[in-house]
Amino acid sequence: MRLSKIRIAGFKSFVDPVTLDLRSNLTGILGPNGCGKSNTIDAVRWVMGESSAKHLRGASMEDVIFNGSSSRKPIGLASVELVFDNSDGTLGGAYAQYAEISVKRQVSRDGDSRYFLNGAKCRRRDITDIFLGTGLGPRSYAIIEQGMISRLIEAKPEELRNTLEEAAGISRYKERRRETETRMAHTRENLERLTDLRDELE
Ligand code: ATP
Repeated sequence: MRLSKIRIAGFKSFVDPVTLDLRSNLTGILGPNGCGKSNTIDAVRWVMGESSAKHLRGASMEDVIFNGSSSRKPIGLASVELVFDNSDGTLGGAYAQYAEISVKRQVSRDGDSRYFLNGAKCRRRDITDIFLGTGLGPRSYAIIEQGMISRLIEAKPEELRNTLEEAAGISRYKERRRETETRMAHTRENLERLTDLRDELE
């Protein structure tokens, strides 16, 4: 699976719609300071479900929307779409039938955030689920930032283990287990409440 296109509109400094065609397995982004190199990486993280404004170098989620420049007014909607070439079938299961997979996220100034999978509206979770265990994802090692290698070398064993588990493809199952445990805890609480209510009525 390979990221083949990034379509950005209204996101940070990318006010007009632009499509970046990534034609090979290795792509470099070059340009002068402040031209938008890091904004491109922020766009990729954001569409894959990053929910922390701090990790996108902003104070609030609204900061990802183009907020105007000396010559342009602010706009109301940011949209980023990633197109993955899945012709090698890396994403199996329900996705195996698709040679191309598109994930898209939009946010408006009123805070309305939407996700789309191959054009159909979906939940954030549907997007993060796809990438769990693939090495991609908003905080995964597929995006190597400045300082990341030294952070890995100096990482505590538990942090290193998280990275290795993602590479081994088992983080998906750990996440499922965590969700199931939360659901079981809620069910237990509900049962206790029900028992209390029944005892009061009897
Ligand atoms: P450097 O090489 O210095 O790291 P860079 O190419 O990575 O630079 P970015 O950080 O991607 O640059 O882009 C910074 C530019 O994006 C700044 O000019 C900043 O004003 C602009 N910018 C960031 N957020 C927004 C926004 N919401 N609306 C408009 N412009 C924005």
